[in-house]
Amino acid sequence: MDFNLSPDEEAFRQEVRTFLAENLGEGERDMATIAGFQKKVREKRWVGFSWPKEYGGGGGSIMEQVILKEEMAKAKAPPLGTCFMGLAWVGPAIIEYGTPEQKKKFIPDILDGAYQWCTGYSEPASGSDLASLSCRCEREGDTYVVNGQKIWTSIAMWSNWIILLVRTQTEVKSKHDGITCLLVPMDTKGITVRPIKNMAGGAIFAEVFFDDVRVPVENRLGEEGQGWGVTVSALAHERSSIAEVHGLSRILDDVKDLARRCRKNGRPAAENAGIRRRIARAEMRIEAMRLNGLRFLTKQLRGEKLGSETSINKLHRAELEVELGELALEIQGSRGPLWQGSDVVPDDGRWQRYALSWPEVVIGGGTPNIQKNIIAERVLGLPKD
Ligand SMILES: Cc1cc2nc3c(=O)[nH]c(=O)nc-3n(C[C@H](O)[C@H](O)[C@H](O)COP(=O)(O)OP(=O)(O)OC[C@H]3O[C@@H](n4cnc5c(N)ncnc54)[C@H](O)[C@@H]3O)c2cc1C
Repeated sequence: MDFNLSPDEEAFRQEVRTFLAENLGEGERDMATIAGFQKKVREKRWVGFSWPKEYGGGGGSIMEQVILKEEMAKAKAPPLGTCFMGLAWVGPAIIEYGTPEQKKKFIPDILDGAYQWCTGYSEPASGSDLASLSCRCEREGDTYVVNGQKIWTSIAMWSNWIILLVRTQTEVKSKHDGITCLLVPMDTKGITVRPIKNMAGGAIFAEVFFDDVRVPVENRLGEEGQGWGVTVSALAHERSSIAEVHGLSRILDDVKDLARRCRKNGRPAAENAGIRRRIARAEMRIEAMRLNGLRFLTKQLRGEKLGSETSINKLHRAELEVELGELALEIQGSRGPLWQGSDVVPDDGRWQRYALSWPEVVIGGGTPNIQKNIIAERVLGLPKD
C-alpha cells in the first residue's frame, strides 16, 4: 500500500493534533475539561465520524477515520462521544435497518450521548452459540410479548434502552432464522435488572429478566425473523484495528517504565533476562498486529469488505492484554498480589486492576477459542470443528 498521506489527509492530521493539544493538553484532565472536549467534538461532527452526514454524522473517509483514531490514541484522549454501545453498534444498525421514525428518534440522542444503551444478546445457555437463543416473544396484534432472561448485560443498571434479540419462531430450518431484534425502554413494566459482581469487585453487568414485557411492533428493528442479519451487519461497521495498536504500544511503554522502577533480585527488573524476553515478545506481537492492520486497511481502501480475517487481531489483542497484565504483576514481585490503597503498591494498583479486567477483551465479542475456530475454518480453510 501507499504509506504517504495526501495533502488533504496530512492537513486533517494537523487539524486533529492541534485540536487535541488545545482542548485536552497533557497530564491529568478534570471533569470540566472532558465535558468541554465532548461538546466540542460533537460540534466538529467527530462523534459518529464515519456516519452519513444526513443523520448528523461526519461523513468521514476510512483514511480520515484511521488518522483521527491514531491521533486520539496517541494523545490518550477519551472516547469520542459518551453513548458507548449506541455509537459502537446500535446506531449503525439503526442507520442500516431502522425506519425513518426510528432514525429521527434515536440517532441524534446517540450522537449527543443523551442516555445509554445496553445489549441483550447473551443468555445463560447461549453465549458463543448465540443463535441458539431462546428468549420467547409472541405477537398479539400490534404488540410483542417477551418472556425470558438475558445475562452479562453490561451497564443494564444505567441504561434507558436495550437492543434485544428474541425468538419469534421456534419451528425453523436454521437456528439463525426466527430471531427478531427489538428496541425496548428499560423502564417497561415486567423488566427486572439484577446486577452481577465481577471478580475485580465491581458490578458493571447484570441479569435481565423479562416477564410479560409488552413492546409495540413499531419498536422492531428490521424484519420479523431477520434479527440475526441485523446483529451481524452491525459488526461489519468495525473499520480498522490500527488505532488499537497505538493503545497497546502505550501500555507496553508503561510496562517497560514499570520494569525500570521495580527491582528483581537486587537489580532493576528491566535487566532481568526473562522479563526482557517477554517484553520483546510483546513488542513483536504488536508489530504483527500493526502489519495486519495495514493489510486490512489496504483491503478497505480498495472497497472490499473485511471478513473473518479481523479475528486474527482480535485473538492477538486478547492474548496480549492478558500477557501484559501478568507481566506487570510479575515485575512487581511480592507486591504483585497487593491492592490499591497500599503504600507500596506501584501506580496506586493500576496494574492489579488491569490484570483483573481481562474478561472484557478476552470474552466480550467472542472468546479466543471461537476466534481460533473462525481463523481455522474461514481464513485457513481447515475442516469444520
Ligand atoms: C465483561 C463482559 C461484558 C459482556 N457484556 C455483554 C453484553 O453487554 N451483552 C451481552 O449480550 N453479552 C455480554 N457478554 C457476554 C459474552 O458475549 C459471552 O460471555 C461470550 O459470548 C461467551 O459466552 P458464554 O459466557 O456463554 O460462554 P460459553 O459460550 O459457554 O463458553 C464457555 C467456554 O467454552 C468455549 N467454547 C464455546 N464454544 C466453543 C466451540 N465451538 N469451540 C471451542 N470452544 C468453545 C469458550 O471459548 C469458553 O472458553 C459480556 C461478557 C463479558 C465477559
